[in-house]
Amino acid sequence: MMIIMKPTATEKEIQAVIERVESAGARAHPSRGEEVTVIGAVGDREHVTRLGLDASPGVERVVPILKPFKLASAQLRHGVRSVLEIAGRRIGGQHFALIAGPCTVESRDQVLATANVVRDGGAAFLRGGAYKPRTSPYSFQGLGQEGLRLLAEAKEETGLPIVTELMDVRDLDAILEVADVIQVGARNMQNYPLLAEIGRCDRPVLIKRGLSSTLEELLMSAEYVLKEGNENVILCERGIRTFETAYRFTLDIMAIPVLKEMTHLPVVVDPSHAAGRRDLVVPLSLAAAAAGADGVMVEVHPQPEAAICDGPQALPADEFPAYVDQVIQAAELAGKELSRV
Ligand code: PEP
Ligand code: MN
Repeated sequence: MMIIMKPTATEKEIQAVIERVESAGARAHPSRGEEVTVIGAVGDREHVTRLGLDASPGVERVVPILKPFKLASAQLRHGVRSVLEIAGRRIGGQHFALIAGPCTVESRDQVLATANVVRDGGAAFLRGGAYKPRTSPYSFQGLGQEGLRLLAEAKEETGLPIVTELMDVRDLDAILEVADVIQVGARNMQNYPLLAEIGRCDRPVLIKRGLSSTLEELLMSAEYVLKEGNENVILCERGIRTFETAYRFTLDIMAIPVLKEMTHLPVVVDPSHAAGRRDLVVPLSLAAAAAGADGVMVEVHPQPEAAICDGPQALPADEFPAYVDQVIQAAELAGKELSRV
């Protein structure tokens, strides 16, 4: 349920409602907007209804949250967008963040060279996988712990916060040592125990849309994290599987405005995995930024032809500055500014 307070409601009245919601065994999620405070009450609907909060001092009205994703729903925040602040970088609202780096951490030289280029070019975060979800079990699976160590070194050298993927809950503690944002890959979007475990940490999480998942399913995955108390969730559209075979996946640009309607959470786009081809990365990034994405996650490599993984889709590092110039212009069209420190 949503409890909408009157614009004149006092802090004492707001606190009294929160306490009553919690006394009914539900969780209260207050959002303080400029004009009014709304309190999301998530728990047994019957119990909350029985409280008769409509009649409480300071309450304007009580309405049900109609979507199955309660905490992720735009309704919960009454139209106010969530802006996450991670290591001094903002993402969401009017803040557009570039997340850039190699697909996979391959070597010290590769990750440090890339990290310096993307930092100088305006990236807010360095991406890079130490644990890689590969379609074939015979492909390179990532450097694991050594990869995390190299990411920590890149962070130390450049100051860039790190986005890296967690595939197995047994690696959580190791990932927490270095990750500023934990990535949940497309293949793990519906790994509910993994999502719940991340929900019990305070670390931000970026959840990629599954290859054939609906937006509602993506939001239900976010709900698994939010329900455990972790409010720092970023959603990522990375292309879905369609009947089209001319490219790897179909980037669902419409997901951006539609997710904005459905949820208060920031939405970023990964053009690299959608396209699978470098020549499509620029047009897709521009489209995403112009459509109102809160950021782009893009693969960059100092020598794409020598990359162990996803070379054909990687932007060559020396093209990154020109790429950023273009993307910033598209983001500005959508009323956003580049997030940097
Ligand atoms: C990745 O970003 O490294 C990745 C493997 O992407 P996805 O999960 O979208 O395939
Ligand atoms: Mn990749």
